Amino acid sequence: MSDALSAPPPAAASKPLSAPQKALRKLGLVRAIDLALHLPLRYEDETRIVRLREAREGEEVQIEGIVTSCELSPGPRRQLLVVLDDGSERCTLRFFSFYPSHQNTLAVGACIRARGELRGGFLGWTMMHPTFRVAGGELPDALTPVYPTSAGLPQAYLRRAVLGGLDRADLGDTIPPEAVADCPGLRQRLPGGGQGAWSLREALHFLHHPRPDTSLAALEDRSHPAWQRLKAEELLAQQLSQHKAKQERDLLRAPALRRRPDGLDQQLLAVLPFGLTGAQARVVDEIAADLARPVPMHRLLQGDVGSGKTVVAALAATVAIEAGWQCALMAPTEILAEQHFSKLVGWLEPLLAPLGKSVAWLTGSQKKKERAAMLARIASGEAALVVGTHAVIQDQVQFQNLALAVIDEQHRFGVAQRLALREKMRDAGLEPHLLMMSATPIPRTLAMSYYADLDVSTIDELPPGRSPIVTKTVSDSRRDEVISRIRAQVAQGRQVYWVCPLIEESEALDLGNATATHLELSAAMEGLCNADGTPLRVGLLHSRMPPVEKKAVMALFSAGLMGVLVSTTVIEVGVDVPNASLMVIEHAERFGLSQLHQLRGRVGRGAAASACLLLYSTNESGRLSETARERLRAMAETTDGFEIARRDLEIRGPGEFLGARQSGAAMLRFADLATDIHLLEWARAWAPVMLERWPRLAQQHVERWLGGKSDYLKA
Ligand code: ADP
Ligand code: MG
Repeated sequence: MSDALSAPPPAAASKPLSAPQKALRKLGLVRAIDLALHLPLRYEDETRIVRLREAREGEEVQIEGIVTSCELSPGPRRQLLVVLDDGSERCTLRFFSFYPSHQNTLAVGACIRARGELRGGFLGWTMMHPTFRVAGGELPDALTPVYPTSAGLPQAYLRRAVLGGLDRADLGDTIPPEAVADCPGLRQRLPGGGQGAWSLREALHFLHHPRPDTSLAALEDRSHPAWQRLKAEELLAQQLSQHKAKQERDLLRAPALRRRPDGLDQQLLAVLPFGLTGAQARVVDEIAADLARPVPMHRLLQGDVGSGKTVVAALAATVAIEAGWQCALMAPTEILAEQHFSKLVGWLEPLLAPLGKSVAWLTGSQKKKERAAMLARIASGEAALVVGTHAVIQDQVQFQNLALAVIDEQHRFGVAQRLALREKMRDAGLEPHLLMMSATPIPRTLAMSYYADLDVSTIDELPPGRSPIVTKTVSDSRRDEVISRIRAQVAQGRQVYWVCPLIEESEALDLGNATATHLELSAAMEGLCNADGTPLRVGLLHSRMPPVEKKAVMALFSAGLMGVLVSTTVIEVGVDVPNASLMVIEHAERFGLSQLHQLRGRVGRGAAASACLLLYSTNESGRLSETARERLRAMAETTDGFEIARRDLEIRGPGEFLGARQSGAAMLRFADLATDIHLLEWARAWAPVMLERWPRLAQQHVERWLGGKSDYLKA
């Protein structure tokens, strides 16, 4: 079968590609099997001709008749009006745009076949812009497929290409009969009373040419057994490739790092100003168990914003350091990396100093000299922990012995960056353990499908004493009230964030917005004081500021010496200032749901009652878009990160949700996690069995469905 799989279609020889051939490639339709697996979006029924007398209003029908009139309507908005008589009744075909050739084909006396939606009305039947052609020729014996296509790829060309692919491709079954028999969606009753199942070949031939008596509803909602077969196949391919990736990783070696009874982790726990929550203690144990094995950990630590992931990472780091190895922690922004650094230095340096070790710091904006010094400390191993941004994975960074890599806010990083971190150990023939942290929880179905190769630890409890955040949506027309509320908060010694949106098309506009708001709020805070008695500071923070300035602003805000911080989304992730108790988000309608949740997570970190105000502006007609309204409603209704993630998945679909983790190639095309859980569960159960008992079939199956596209799984 591999020949048929890898051979390009004959047209691809050495000749330059035609425009439609290029378009095919762009859609990823290269191999015969790719074409065979390119399934119709919908169907048109050209198998029957409906008599107008028997037709119903609103139906999509094909009619045939003689043209009795063909004329241009009078008036400025010209239309071509053609009357067709099918012997039972008449129908007017209306065209608002047309070529002179239309009038030739549709001349009085011509016999025409037209397809379109039939509308009734005062003047009798009409069809707007029907497709039409001269009558004659046999009617097709199957529904006509309409394929997803792109510019430069005419439907007729694509149809021929798909048919060719379907003929050439090897469609032999790769799913063993035992597995097929076990799948509820695949079993189906045969007319004779027995049980059967659709083979891949039958399912594909059927979906490309369904018989005219097929229920279009079952095809459209994809509940038809032929669709079930394809979805099951696709999900199985995804599960197989993830299990395989996991198996391959299990063959790699990593340093086994064991906790000691009175180790550094215990010392750290003893000096922390708080005790771990039950959930934190549990995930620390899960991570420690992974670290103790000589196989690289590949674990996702998920916990809602504010659930206390940083201290878990610090405890994991102490286990590695205790055993004599280095640890790296990478964060997506300088502000966050900076904050982690100061927190970790505070916690760990007193414990590391007696061992002659320290915490190093790496960012892109560092001065050359400082950087060189850091690199030397990292190479010598004196830096037991290295905290930084993407700078941590650059080539010049040589670790002496990296054993644990922690990636904070992992969804902000791509596959390549994760791979680069792992490469840092390759010379030694060992892999580092990998801990990925995320405040965007993964809904169960996504975890079972796209993240099946990961182990997941979940912190499902917030530290005690947090008061819930009250969220309100407020129209921008009530801005003055919002500002008075800020004054009241600041007067009580509390701190406030005001976030301005990122306007993607124009960074300049974005800054203009933040700067204007900064001026407005500075003026409005007149007469108030900071904790040290100085006139109240209102800070401004945005991504274009030099890092030193950003640092200075963050330092004042963290120290409680700045009442209000106006910021763009640079503070979105990780920033932790427990005294801040009010968050205002301007133009909240422009933000994504998980982004709003992350931003809101900047407050409610201390004991004081916290609030989040979502300021929205409507468009000229006084409206919000439907999705914007849904997002704001979700925010007002819940603070539970899992619920937010679930709704986000509903609103955006998995493509957007997964962000950098998935290449488009690995996305599910046919299966829908909302409706196909039974197939997903089946695939999950059978993938390991198949790898064990039918490894060759498993490999063929993955090849067929994913081709060379499963590389992403390596990270
Ligand atoms: P996130 O999970 O969002 O990264 P952080 O690690 O920044 O959360 O923790 C949020 C805040 O809660 C920090 O100020 C941290 O020191 C504090 N914290 C963490 N764990 C506990 C705990 N068990 N009890 C009290 N406070 C805690
Ligand atoms: Mg964090």
